[in-house]
Amino acid sequence: AQERYVSLRDLPAVTKDGQRIELYMNAGLMADLPSMESSGAEGVGLFRTELQFLIRNRMPKRGELVDIYARVLDAANGRRVQFRTLDIGSDKVLPYMKASDEPNPALGWRAIRVGLDKPGVMRMQLQALIRAAKGRPLTIMFPMVAQFDEFRAGREHVFRELEREYALGHIMPERVEIGTMLETPSLAYAPRQFYEMADFISIGGNDLKQFFFAADRENERVRRRYDTLNSSFLSLIERIVERCDEAGTDVSFCGEDAGRPVEALCFAAMGLKKLSMRPASIGPVKSLLRRVDLAEAREVISSARESGVQSVRQSVMDWLATQGR
Ligand code: PEP
Ligand code: MG
Repeated sequence: AQERYVSLRDLPAVTKDGQRIELYMNAGLMADLPSMESSGAEGVGLFRTELQFLIRNRMPKRGELVDIYARVLDAANGRRVQFRTLDIGSDKVLPYMKASDEPNPALGWRAIRVGLDKPGVMRMQLQALIRAAKGRPLTIMFPMVAQFDEFRAGREHVFRELEREYALGHIMPERVEIGTMLETPSLAYAPRQFYEMADFISIGGNDLKQFFFAADRENERVRRRYDTLNSSFLSLIERIVERCDEAGTDVSFCGEDAGRPVEALCFAAMGLKKLSMRPASIGPVKSLLRRVDLAEAREVISSARESGVQSVRQSVMDWLATQGR
């Protein structure tokens, strides 16, 4: 099936009515790097740095991380790579770190909460990223930010490490962009100043959906209970995109749903112009986007929402069936 998409690799994802959607890939392991060329991705929208920590039986050393991140940037060959700082805790437990016994790990001490309370590892990681960039642009984002102050504090850590690395005589990145994942509904309602401060925002739909519907993404009994194309969830996405647009902040979507063609189309219709997904999904998503008129899709979705449906999926599928594909 992949061969079907090879011919699309170097073509842009442009809808029939001329809307260009940028497709990025999610990555985290060295094995993902060849996909940067083969998938036609415009860059890496989400680099899950915790994977390098999870595949080891001890804490990686700073030098090893410098090496890994430099190889990622080499492979990207000038394309953008959004490095996410450690997202540990919850479903991602490091075998060599004392697991904290928490009744609700997904709602517990995880990701940036650990990074801010015990900053040693995050600082080491930031140092490694700065050294790896070495004159190239560097893009950093934080996981599981729930309020403005957490983002601000994470950002301060980046500035502090930049100063420290500079004082030590290391070559500075060409420029640094600092953004955040948006994975908690609370952040959708953060002050305008938060949106203005963030250089970019990436919607982490896996967690955002889990917290929005209060349905555990790991629990088979409930994880498929609520449709991503639920009208309420689409309203949330639309609102986030509007707020980013108002602030002039770049916004993308990097949860698993971005890799499902119909979902990707609906996200594009909600105003998202950048989607990040596993490399194998880029072909199928691009293929659908190139066949549709986005303004029409938007109308189909908005009249479905107005009619009060719980999910717009059926309406979108019915419309797609008339598209003579
Ligand atoms: C997400 O939550 O949507 C996301 C991309 O992060 P992860 O799946 O790594 O939690
Ligand atoms: Mg997440």
